[in-house]
Amino acid sequence: MVKAANPVEKKTEKAEQRCVNRACGARFGLRERIYVCSKCGETLEIDCHLLRSNDPAAVRERWAAAKANPKLPRDASGVWRYLEMLPFDDDAPFVTLFEGNTPLFHAPRSAKYCGLAGLRLKHQGYNPTGSFKDTGMAAAITQAVISGARTAVCASTGNTAASLAAYAARAEFQAAILLPRGQVSAAKLAQSLDYGALVLEIDGNFDDCMRLIQELGDDPAIYVANSINPFRIEGQKTVAFELMEQCSWQVPDHVVVPGGNMGNSTALGKGFQELLDMGLIRRLPKLSVIQAEGAAPVARLFANLTPGQRAGEEELPEKLAIVENPKTLATAIKIGAPVSWKKALRAVVRSHGQVIAVSEQEIADAKAMIGRDSIGCEPASATTVAGIKKLVAAGHVQPGEDVVAVLTGHALKDPDYMSNYHRGTLAIDSGAKDSAAPPKPIHGAFQNAPERVAATKSAILASLKQRH
Ligand SMILES: [Zn+2]
Repeated sequence: MVKAANPVEKKTEKAEQRCVNRACGARFGLRERIYVCSKCGETLEIDCHLLRSNDPAAVRERWAAAKANPKLPRDASGVWRYLEMLPFDDDAPFVTLFEGNTPLFHAPRSAKYCGLAGLRLKHQGYNPTGSFKDTGMAAAITQAVISGARTAVCASTGNTAASLAAYAARAEFQAAILLPRGQVSAAKLAQSLDYGALVLEIDGNFDDCMRLIQELGDDPAIYVANSINPFRIEGQKTVAFELMEQCSWQVPDHVVVPGGNMGNSTALGKGFQELLDMGLIRRLPKLSVIQAEGAAPVARLFANLTPGQRAGEEELPEKLAIVENPKTLATAIKIGAPVSWKKALRAVVRSHGQVIAVSEQEIADAKAMIGRDSIGCEPASATTVAGIKKLVAAGHVQPGEDVVAVLTGHALKDPDYMSNYHRGTLAIDSGAKDSAAPPKPIHGAFQNAPERVAATKSAILASLKQRH
């Protein structure tokens, strides 16, 4: 990292929070602790006021040198290494668990399954708590420390809660997780408990928890780290920078991500756009987002866009029809009212990508195929491979194109799903409200159930021979 010529000059004095509603256009200072626009209620994004680099090669070299030979502790982080792209100053109290630095795998079996010559998987499940949330949480908790708050809160049942708990603990911050009592399994919260977070079981439903989070946000001691927090997107966008380094700055034709709250697709879109604005890449990869059929409000909206809207020539819709009762076994993307849909949809359209949905069966089989590539991921991540297979079949992706899918969570985040798939006991509720119908089974095309074998050498050898 090159020191600023004038150390008094603070980057954060230039960066701002801005309302994503273009008709509103309100702007707020970085230190203003608001989470939505105080004028119109829309979500916020951060404008980093990046300058077009006169020498892109020098920036790339600096990043490569920081990675190869980290001189500062923050250079060992796959987020803070890219500080010049982030709304933080050199002397910020960086919180880090050495997030990022995740592998980019070749996945030949999955490629063949999709009808592609090659496919690479960028696995964000290799982050410290096992999901992509960590890169964003490093930024959000650092901002929480700067803000002078004492407690970070969120309402989450899964990856966000685990990540918040870990980063708050690292910053010696109190973490509080609000959940509806009796509606969340203990196993899902195990990581948060281990990291020492205060788990508050509320007498109410998930909507009550969200309302409380908003009310608590007014308290100066409390920092809201829910998905609405714009600093999380800033940390998450660094995956685009790291991916480009791993691709030796050859821009892939397609980057494909799962879509739940749409924060990840928003972040990737922002990251690539900033690289383009800086002159570090010359074109954008087509960014496509894959949702689960039972939780696919944005895919539905996208299917009904006019050709002009898809081409970015006409205004995009201002309203999204939410899914009241989302259904999918891919719990990380079981979201009916995605917070960041507007920002994500803009990024998809700008890059000429697609938003589509895939079935539970398609997700389950794609997940097993990724496993066969010796990679493994949580079910939500597998929407990518299921979606790419469909995009190839539909002609949106050509067999010889360069495709990267972003996996978001580690396989061990949901071991029950994996076990049930391979034992033939995976099933999903019919979805009908008062239905007594039995859950719909999912038949594993790549099922791999354990075998019962007699306690003899010959029986084991016979079994090995049969399966070879
Ligand atoms: Zn506004």
